[in-house]
Amino acid sequence: MAAPVLTIDLGALVRNWQALDRLSGDAETAAAVKADAYGCGIAPVAQALSNAGCQSFFVATLDEAATLHSVLPDARIFILNGVTGEECQVARNLGLRPCLNAPHQIAEWGAGGGGPCALQLDTGMSRLGVEPRDLDKMLQNPALPTALGGLELVMSHLACADDTNAGEAADMSARQRAAFETLTAALSAVLPPFKRSLAATGGTVLGRDYHYDLVRCGIGLYGGTPFAEAETVVHLTSPIIQIRDIEEGDAVGYGATWRAQRPSRIATLPLGYGDGLHRTLSDSGTVYINGQPAPVAGRVSMDLLTIDVTDHPDADKDTQVEIIGKTQSVDALATAAGTIGYEILTSLGTRYERRYKNAS
Ligand SMILES: *Cc1c(COP(=O)(O)O)cnc(C)c1O
Repeated sequence: MAAPVLTIDLGALVRNWQALDRLSGDAETAAAVKADAYGCGIAPVAQALSNAGCQSFFVATLDEAATLHSVLPDARIFILNGVTGEECQVARNLGLRPCLNAPHQIAEWGAGGGGPCALQLDTGMSRLGVEPRDLDKMLQNPALPTALGGLELVMSHLACADDTNAGEAADMSARQRAAFETLTAALSAVLPPFKRSLAATGGTVLGRDYHYDLVRCGIGLYGGTPFAEAETVVHLTSPIIQIRDIEEGDAVGYGATWRAQRPSRIATLPLGYGDGLHRTLSDSGTVYINGQPAPVAGRVSMDLLTIDVTDHPDADKDTQVEIIGKTQSVDALATAAGTIGYEILTSLGTRYERRYKNAS
């Protein structure tokens, strides 16, 4: 049966990395490849970026780090969520760098023998990282320089860097930057030199003040907001597998939420919310045939989508429909679904036939 195809353009991905690398000036441009490289496939994505010169990668978990290590044994791999207990030894043996997020993690890492690592500070997001009041206590501890003997990077994360509303969001970023300056200066006084990192894609776009020594870019690589100049990386197309004529008043889909206002043609596509087409697109999303919009008709099912092609007289079985691509960006689809591009990408799932367009 004809099936949808998810195409990942590795050339566009690499050009996005190069553009962000130019934007970040002298800072190193690392890649965030957590959650299977935002749904794009960690092995091909990391390999393409490594071939282009990317040396440092960020994942969320030890499992992701071990997977990446098997693909790129020489890359610097940071584990954002840190490690505890037995994970410490596994990470140490593979040379994986945990981001230590709390005093007990630092003590545990040091007690096991230490090794290359990063330290994450909470500068105001209240999510992950050492809190300023704990840092004061930590700095008094004479064992700190030994426990952090392998410290390479001190980092923090911005809460509002991708917020285009100036005012409060800009204030928040500036406050976090000031806190980062203060906290890293205090650490510098007791530790050997380390690099600093504050920016993800949003902070990279914000400007030089946020770049420090290393930026950690994720969404911009994959073509998403807030990197406005990004090239399209993800393309999702599907053939029509059935098409039918219905009468005025006929219903379409679960719950019979869509009723034909006129004699209509309804086309069925073999993908649904089980493939990341959020159910919130029911009766409201749009897909494209030859660049022209076709509305979603009825509820999104788990494995099927119905669209109204009454205004597409040429549409037929096997006609290709664009769901994500140059006409409808990931962000446009996300907005229609009431979410963000990150969630669309990470919910694409594993059922698509994937094609990788090579970097060169
Ligand atoms: C996910 C993540 C990044 C990458 O963020 P983007 O907005 O996708 O560029 C960077 N740093 C941390 C701590 C993250 O969790």
